[in-house]
Amino acid sequence: MAEDTAKETIGFQAEVKQLLQLMIHSLYSNKEIFLRELISNASDALDKLRFEAIASPDLAADDPDLGVTLALDEAANTLTITDNGIGMSRDEVISNLGTIARSGTAEFLGKLSGDARKDAQLIGQFGVGFYASFIVADRVTVDTRRAGLDADAAVRWESTGEGDYTLEPIERDARGTTITLHLKPDESEFAQGYRITSLVKRYSDHIAFPVRLAGEESTETINSATALWTRSRAEVEDDEYKEFYQHLTHDFEPPLAWSHNRVEGKREYTSLVYIPGRAPFDLWNREAPRGLKLYVQRVFIMDDAEQFLPLYLRFVRGVIDCADLPLNVSRELLQSSPAIDAMRSALTKRVLSTLDKMANNEPEDYARFWSEFGEVLKEGLAEDTTNRDALNKLLRFTTTDSEGDSQSETLAGYVERMVEGQDTIYYLTAESLAAAKASPHLEVFKKRGIEVLLLTDRLDEWMIGYLTEFDGKALQDVRRDGLELPEGESADDAEDRADDGVLERLGQCLEDAVSGVRASDRLVESPACLVVGADDMGAQMRRMLEAAGQDVPESKPALEVNLGHPLVRRLETAADDARFEDLARVLLGQAEIAEGDLPADPADYVGRLNRLLVELSS
Ligand code: ADP
Repeated sequence: MAEDTAKETIGFQAEVKQLLQLMIHSLYSNKEIFLRELISNASDALDKLRFEAIASPDLAADDPDLGVTLALDEAANTLTITDNGIGMSRDEVISNLGTIARSGTAEFLGKLSGDARKDAQLIGQFGVGFYASFIVADRVTVDTRRAGLDADAAVRWESTGEGDYTLEPIERDARGTTITLHLKPDESEFAQGYRITSLVKRYSDHIAFPVRLAGEESTETINSATALWTRSRAEVEDDEYKEFYQHLTHDFEPPLAWSHNRVEGKREYTSLVYIPGRAPFDLWNREAPRGLKLYVQRVFIMDDAEQFLPLYLRFVRGVIDCADLPLNVSRELLQSSPAIDAMRSALTKRVLSTLDKMANNEPEDYARFWSEFGEVLKEGLAEDTTNRDALNKLLRFTTTDSEGDSQSETLAGYVERMVEGQDTIYYLTAESLAAAKASPHLEVFKKRGIEVLLLTDRLDEWMIGYLTEFDGKALQDVRRDGLELPEGESADDAEDRADDGVLERLGQCLEDAVSGVRASDRLVESPACLVVGADDMGAQMRRMLEAAGQDVPESKPALEVNLGHPLVRRLETAADDARFEDLARVLLGQAEIAEGDLPADPADYVGRLNRLLVELSS
């Protein structure tokens, strides 16, 4: 009776409900991964127990033989996974198996389309996990007791994976967790020994703890139970590296590359770092966990040890196992240790050289990497000046010579294609590729066959500020003052040109909006363009700061006009001032539009343009 009343029904957080539904549908064709996920969780729980037992040996003393045990019951159609790890308290069960704590989850789930194939990929970005059980089970029971709590503090969680779960107190002799999957009728294969054994061999062989299969008479260990990174590189197959990655990250996609190294000498450590194939959904969330999993002599110490890599390599996943850190090392200690700093700089070089190797040997993989993580890697230009040369080589751009829209040109390639007499790398920043390609600033470059880098990523203007030169060549923003072109023909070869006098008149008329008006040598087709002062803030940065609610210093661009353009010549002949001003403001408005902006006063612009059109037709 008492137990009946103690059983509660609790609704899942909305995100969990959504994730469950999507997962069941979209991951069905990879359904066997549930086992890898559950064994991974069990192994993490064992790691955590071993870690806590360093400070409180009593936690593990009664049952020191750590492992995972699988038990099958064909008649009942169940699969049971038991670990004697850290277990969960009632509160932990509620937050771990009833909610998703990662911020941005709701937003992320909102992006899912309902198309199973696409969603499976997205869910890969999210990381599957415990909830994958519901792909094959129509009911899941979790009995768990937190290490250190009494037998009667254990709880049973149970759910059919729909809207809610039940929770009730139980008695449990042993610490740790038992998960029972009540398999769906047509998933009975997962209650069969040979099927489970082969799955464990395939996905979980490298788990550092024994995974055992309980038989009628005896229990046998079915994995090799050695931590993968402790083995020598020559002995580990590619597939094993990939499986280990999936265990580590819960990522659905295989990694693009990895690097496994043992360092001996003054500082001994083993690192295994991976380059994922896909960005996690919270790559841009500053609070998202990042970093490596830290072990000290094979004892797990902490997840997300972020001190081993710089922020701009936050996409790297992996483990580091240090021989000579104390077992009680804390995050604070990691932060202020010269030994860790030395490891970070070695690991950083290692990652950059892994990327360089990928770029040279597997260009398609590298292209994929760049499209997922290029924007993050670029932060390194500002963050990491010691590795500037290595980073510069890894950059990829779209340029005016690019065939498609992809960022695939290197700076070295650009330099090779420079025209005679060119000693500057030209670039243009814009809101989008379409805006960049249509920019009037490119006209003279097109005419003369000079390539220009087109920078359209959010942080490009900021990033490029740190890239002052490459291979001895300075970089120059083509939208700024002081543009220097190699000797050669000029942009405007019109025979019939407006007289310089029009510039002064324009300058007076548009005084409120521009810093000055001058003849341009960068325009071929367009009548006018706006030029940013050499030291003024660029448009992208301005927009970003404004969006963040910050004050932006006042600065006016200059207006450059194409004296050969008929519209400019028409200005010359505008007799009365009102007509002149209409034409001048339309000219300015067009220059603003060509940059992808709105005219400063759109209604005024439309009014003037219409007046001119009406005049024209009457
Ligand atoms: P993830 O493992 O990616 O955090 P899961 O949904 O698989 O996500 O699990 C959620 C949490 O539940 C885990 O982070 C862990 O704290 C807890 N958990 C899952 N399985 C176990 C287990 N066997 N023992 C103890 N805790 C577990």
